[in-house]
Amino acid sequence: MPTKYIFVTGGVVSSLGKGIAIASIGALLEARGLKISVQKLDPYLNVDAGTMNPFQHGEVYVSDDGAETDLDLGHYERYTHARITALSNVTTGKIYHSIIEKERRGDFLGKTVQVIPHVTDEIKTRIKAAAKEREVDVAMIEIGGTIGDIESLPFLEAIRQFGKDMGRDNVLYVHLTLVPYIAAAGEVKTKPTQHSVSELLSIGIQPDILLCRTERHFAKDIAAKISLFCNVEERAIIQAVDVASVYEVPTAFHAQGLDDIIIEKLGLKAKKANMKEWESIVGKLKNPKATVNIGIVGKYIEIQDAYKSIKEAIIHGGIANECKVKIHWVNSEEVEACKDKKKILGHLDGILVPGGFGVRGIEGKIHAIQYAREKKIPFFGICLGMQAAVIEFARNVLKLKNANSTEFDQYTPNPVISMLAEQKMVKNMGGTMRLGAYPCKVKKGTKAYEAYNEGVIFERHRHRFEFNGLYKERFETKGMTLSGISPNEILAEIVEIKRHPWFLAVQFHPEFKSKPTAAHPLFRDFVKASLKNHKVKK
Ligand code: GLN
Repeated sequence: MPTKYIFVTGGVVSSLGKGIAIASIGALLEARGLKISVQKLDPYLNVDAGTMNPFQHGEVYVSDDGAETDLDLGHYERYTHARITALSNVTTGKIYHSIIEKERRGDFLGKTVQVIPHVTDEIKTRIKAAAKEREVDVAMIEIGGTIGDIESLPFLEAIRQFGKDMGRDNVLYVHLTLVPYIAAAGEVKTKPTQHSVSELLSIGIQPDILLCRTERHFAKDIAAKISLFCNVEERAIIQAVDVASVYEVPTAFHAQGLDDIIIEKLGLKAKKANMKEWESIVGKLKNPKATVNIGIVGKYIEIQDAYKSIKEAIIHGGIANECKVKIHWVNSEEVEACKDKKKILGHLDGILVPGGFGVRGIEGKIHAIQYAREKKIPFFGICLGMQAAVIEFARNVLKLKNANSTEFDQYTPNPVISMLAEQKMVKNMGGTMRLGAYPCKVKKGTKAYEAYNEGVIFERHRHRFEFNGLYKERFETKGMTLSGISPNEILAEIVEIKRHPWFLAVQFHPEFKSKPTAAHPLFRDFVKASLKNHKVKK
């Protein structure tokens, strides 16, 4: 059977949750026994998301092979078994970069290089390459942005052509739209959807399925109206009603028969749906046995998307421990300014310090870590969070004056965190950090080993700085163990404090490998320890 393609576009407004919708469709297709891939086409000009500020664009999601991608790709890996690789996130920047390189080499043999066909061909080639990488039954492709954006036009033209090239039996167009409820009129409105679909039609794309985001369920006559005006079968008007948890979306779509419609329209052969796992997750989310309070101490807290995967991984830890996790966003600069740390941190059962760049807010993170260490509150440090934990320990336990990372103080007398040797030559910012999955040896008899129960693990990295091995012995003598190290025994990947209920910090990003169906072992154990602390406090 040839690979089938599903293209998903978004209409009316942004932030309707296209990534979650696609991830959920992917989960449904997998529940029917199909093998899928997911790819995102982003119309912006950056070559990748790696150089983008989290304030503007949220977290940068990193794949095993070291691609720095849009955060939607995190949803795809969380909900499905699709593998994200360098081929999974295409941007206009990437497309033009390669076309201009080809033009300079003379590959176009004197032709005028144009959007149609050169840019559209380049896009189509990349769509096929991503699907071919794993020989999937269904390749799903998200088009970033909203219909009507100037910059997404070449992508829409490419996917229109794709339908013609492959035959309409092999391609499905899904459009995510908004059906708003207007309180003053007491009505839901279909006009924005009609406009968005007519815009798509003017490009030559007839959607097959509409996913209608709506605050509340709408009546059959509304679906009939949308069907009539948009030329979409009434059963293919799916209501994507707001839900308490994003993990309810797969079961909500399944309840409306979305998987059957897709399978029928694409002529796929599939098994009966096995929704057990998703039903069990929803059950656990809805019936927690306890509540635990976890604080995330960071500097991008106004933009929670900056910590998307961490937030989700904590929720997964909650699912694994059958408890509700209440996340408290703590501004690290406020921790620094506040004299009475108890006031700002005292209500927390567990403290997590996430990754980050730059000096702003770093001292607050260090103070929060000192509080967690001294008051025996479970602590989990990630990337910069580990570096801050090392600095804190150096200053307050080893009494190394002005210990710091050379990222924040180039002339510190005690550079306990310093730049990786290979980083010293690097001039370009884009794609030059230590990126992607690396092996790490885990020491037996440690909390890390207890969590992983494995001697060698693979975790994803994204950083330039590193624990300075010259200080190793001093740290270990005073009780901070290097429980995870690189195979050549040079790089410290996990540190922990023995005499503490749960104090562990990692140089990598475990959050990228956590799933609702399988919480990452470190997040699972961190939430477990926090829950224990919660019960003790009560
Ligand atoms: N700024 C630190 C480094 O580059 C930490 C990076 C991170 O937290 N991702 O090493």
